[in-house]
Amino acid sequence: MHLPMPQRVLIVGAGPGGLATAMLLAKAGVEVTILEKEPRVGGRTSPIEGQGYRFDLGPTFFLYPQILEEIFAEVGRDLKREVPMRKLDPQYRLIFGAGGELVCTSDVERMVAAIAKLAPADGPQFRRFMNDNRLKLEKFAPCLQSPFLSWTDLLQTRLLAVLPYLKPLKSLHAELAGYFADPRLQLAFTFQSKYLGMSPFQCPSLFSILSYLEYEHGIWHPTGGCSELTRGMARVAKELGARIRLGEPVQEILFEGRRAIGARTAQGEHRADAVVVNADFAHAMTTLVPNRLRRRWTDATIARKRFSCSTFMLYLGIEGRCDQLEHHNIYIAENYRQNLEDIERRHVLTDDPSFYVENPSGIDDTMAPPGHSALYLLVPVSHQHPNLDWTRERDRYRRVALRQLAKLGLPDIEKRIRFERILTPVDWEQNVGVYRGATFNLAHNLGQMLHLRPRNRFEEFERMYLVGGGTHPGSGLPVIFESARISARLLLQDLR
Ligand SMILES: Cc1cc2nc3c(=O)[nH]c(=O)nc-3n(C[C@H](O)[C@H](O)[C@H](O)COP(=O)(O)OP(=O)(O)OC[C@H]3O[C@@H](n4cnc5c(N)ncnc54)[C@H](O)[C@@H]3O)c2cc1C
Repeated sequence: MHLPMPQRVLIVGAGPGGLATAMLLAKAGVEVTILEKEPRVGGRTSPIEGQGYRFDLGPTFFLYPQILEEIFAEVGRDLKREVPMRKLDPQYRLIFGAGGELVCTSDVERMVAAIAKLAPADGPQFRRFMNDNRLKLEKFAPCLQSPFLSWTDLLQTRLLAVLPYLKPLKSLHAELAGYFADPRLQLAFTFQSKYLGMSPFQCPSLFSILSYLEYEHGIWHPTGGCSELTRGMARVAKELGARIRLGEPVQEILFEGRRAIGARTAQGEHRADAVVVNADFAHAMTTLVPNRLRRRWTDATIARKRFSCSTFMLYLGIEGRCDQLEHHNIYIAENYRQNLEDIERRHVLTDDPSFYVENPSGIDDTMAPPGHSALYLLVPVSHQHPNLDWTRERDRYRRVALRQLAKLGLPDIEKRIRFERILTPVDWEQNVGVYRGATFNLAHNLGQMLHLRPRNRFEEFERMYLVGGGTHPGSGLPVIFESARISARLLLQDLR
């Protein structure tokens, strides 16, 4: 869709959502300016670099590249040529605190055999799980691709017709118990709800499509990490004419009546025909838009919403290789339910937490100096809560995290650390600008999805649009790219 005359659009934030929107709008002939507070692009999908090591700050799993591929194709580019990547096989190794391991692959025959080795009766269930979820995604995809602007939209879509497949009142975990009898396998196909920052015991059963997507379309590793995606997107956006102003935080979004007309930074006012907000929704609203102007999403309403978990992060540059590890490794605590309750309900720290560790240097020599490894360790923890004082807990939890790592066959790791960076929920909030440090945004319970999530064409103001994990469809790279596609389409319709 090309516009009759050039129009100006400001995008607040150069995260994956902002960059994808910039590509689509620039291609349509819009004069795009991105204002980014950091000195580099990518937001939570940017790199951490030091002493020759390189880590992804946030995303390490690139799932379902199709959506980004389509966006690249729409602007005349080839994603996999711009950002070389490979499909991982095996895709990850699960280590169960309750005993046993599962090396997961998207090769169906090998996966059935791996499951059968752990629990013989459950092997054949894998195919049934895949077939059922293929159908479920097919039914639900139109709901993910449409904007949900009102209750009427909800009724008009095919959502009602797909309710029998979605089983909205059933939890993800209860859904999987209908496939696999072994509790470890139930977790193997539900822990993915943590990608949304949610517990499988609370998360709607719809999200079994997440594990299905992994097996159907694979997990991809861009060479250099997921931050290479945002770097590539920024390069293409600029080649299409978008301007990216780095190190220029927006201090305030400007309005004329109820219409967004631009943004103010320390360098002055930037006027525009429309404003797209990619910065974390709750953080941006509570810091960039005066409370008195907001009717639905006031500070008090936002404070009452449910937020995802946060993460305690260790980025470790290690001397020597870590061949005991696969590329992606996930340890599922023996008392997983208790671990999740500690995170979501009790807001305390668990002594035997589940965690995830990535060892990309095994297959990607751009991540660490020769003979060294770059380990990324993520422990899901509560978002910021008065129960937790991270100035006190930080060092203790580092010890807990290193002790957990020892369980995966790396007992001597501390002596080999040559580079280290720690991030706690406080850092996510104060340095990265994520409300309450809830790394995966607003939770994805039914009361905060579809039309009940802050909408792509933002309902509070004219000419203001949202992209990223805080709007519809939700958090996670594939749906963030979908949000960019939806918001860009609405914005272009409105500018016409
Ligand atoms: C630890 C972690 C692990 C994750 N793992 C995965 C994964 O494996 N796979 C997956 O698909 N997803 C994952 N995610 C979720 C999600 O994909 C990423 O968080 C993603 O980067 C979110 O993109 P976004 O577009 O919503 O915004 P962000 O990445 O948050 O970008 C927003 C941008 O806005 C900028 N900004 C904020 N305020 C201002 C301001 N006032 N002025 C100007 N700019 C501003 C920020 O600096 C930032 O660049 C993970 C997230 C985290 C935190």
